[in-house]
Amino acid sequence: MSAFVDDFMAGLKARNPAEPEFHQAAEEVAESLEVVIEKNPQYRKAKILERIAEPERVIIFRVPWVDDKGEIQTNRGYRVEMNSAIGPYKGGLRFHPTVYLGLLKFLAFEQVFKNSLTTLPMGGGKGGSNFDPKGKSDLEVMRFCQSFMTELCHHIGDRTDIPAGDIGVGGREIGYMFGQYKRIRNEFVGVLTGKGIEFGGSLIRPEATGYGAVYFAAEMLVTRNETLEGKTCLVSGSGNVSQYTIEKIIDLGGKAITCSDSGGYIYDEAGIDRDKLAFILELKNVKRGRISEYADKYTSAVYTPVDKAKDFNPLWDHKADCAFPSAVQNEINAKDAQNLLNNGVYLVSEGANMPTVPAGVNLFVEKKILYGPGKAANAGGVATSGLEQSQNSLRLSWTREEVDSRLHGIMKSIHKQCVDASKAYGFEGNYVAGANIAGFLKVANAMMAQGVV
Ligand code: NAP
Repeated sequence: MSAFVDDFMAGLKARNPAEPEFHQAAEEVAESLEVVIEKNPQYRKAKILERIAEPERVIIFRVPWVDDKGEIQTNRGYRVEMNSAIGPYKGGLRFHPTVYLGLLKFLAFEQVFKNSLTTLPMGGGKGGSNFDPKGKSDLEVMRFCQSFMTELCHHIGDRTDIPAGDIGVGGREIGYMFGQYKRIRNEFVGVLTGKGIEFGGSLIRPEATGYGAVYFAAEMLVTRNETLEGKTCLVSGSGNVSQYTIEKIIDLGGKAITCSDSGGYIYDEAGIDRDKLAFILELKNVKRGRISEYADKYTSAVYTPVDKAKDFNPLWDHKADCAFPSAVQNEINAKDAQNLLNNGVYLVSEGANMPTVPAGVNLFVEKKILYGPGKAANAGGVATSGLEQSQNSLRLSWTREEVDSRLHGIMKSIHKQCVDASKAYGFEGNYVAGANIAGFLKVANAMMAQGVV
């Protein structure tokens, strides 16, 4: 590490102790930006990097609710409003037992650069709770969401901060939160995205992150005069991002052979076709079941439960061309990254946020595979949230084709920005540097113009 990155990281760690995911995300960005800051001393003088890494505001609140047995439960709610230089705060809400302030700071920090890349005017934020929707009844989830929004509604607004979904927050949770916001504030506005179609949602929003990650992969392949046709793909997760990643892989002629949940993964050598995908959607979105049930239904599949004693994830140890990590942060460790390369994978497009540990990222970059980091490859979700906001403001609903074609155009533009920025600063072919630099420049210039705020 250089003296500049060392100093920056020492300060960041001292101010944010015991937040390893935030340190990891910040260090990767700082390393990419070193050369930019060297060439542009005005950013250093204005302490842009130090300011960008400090949330503008953090809200932490109590979320009390009553479970089905009549017992009172207490969770903790958060909203990290990271940066509003180029637009109102925008970013998802995560409901998962692992949620704590450091995890949300990492996600909010990534979101700032990602939103900047989308070409749309959106600042960065992220929020959520340590509440676990898994195993809860619909009424328990509703009571939790209502209590969460009872406090959050004082801090968000369609011109201020517009949350969306993330892990554990899908259409059901967004619906309950929207209902409670409207009831308390007595206003029908686009304050959340990912809404149901009947009350202001956008067509293609549920599909957008997964579709976008595959569009990004297709753009990377174009640089080698290739397409996804006939490519074998490893996919992790079986939630929102994973489901529509698999759908778009099928649309573009590829074959997805794995998916997973926190209990284990299935390997289906025959490929997950449209019928099998429909089974996964019903299993996960309606029945809220486990992915092991896929192997009960389809004999072509093998289910492997998670084995904590293993130091690698066997999902990443199959022969394939492409990988689409779509579950959770740090799900590809250094050994997994090496296994992917050993198995012939030469394209990784990250649907999840920061799914690869730094040693894995370094390996992908060093081996010059087509590696699309999350803040570029999964930006289609938030971009389509931006399109949902535009439709809400216009009081119009665009067709599927219109939204999909805008999403596709945005993913191409993000790809181009990464390529151009990486070339301009001497990192040709390195999408990590390209995404960090292109995302940073727009926000940094806006911050410079707005003075010390
Ligand atoms: P989701 O619908 O809740 O699905 C998450 C999936 O990941 C589930 O299959 C879940 O399995 C699995 N998972 C969670 N924790 C895991 C763990 N520790 N180990 C293995 N598997 C685990 O969430 P999502 O919206 O698809 O989000 C997936 C990733 O994409 C996240 O990193 C998120 O930040 C990122 N992302 C999402 C969007 C979006 O628009 N939704 C946009 C950009 C990025 P279980 O059901 O067993 O927990």
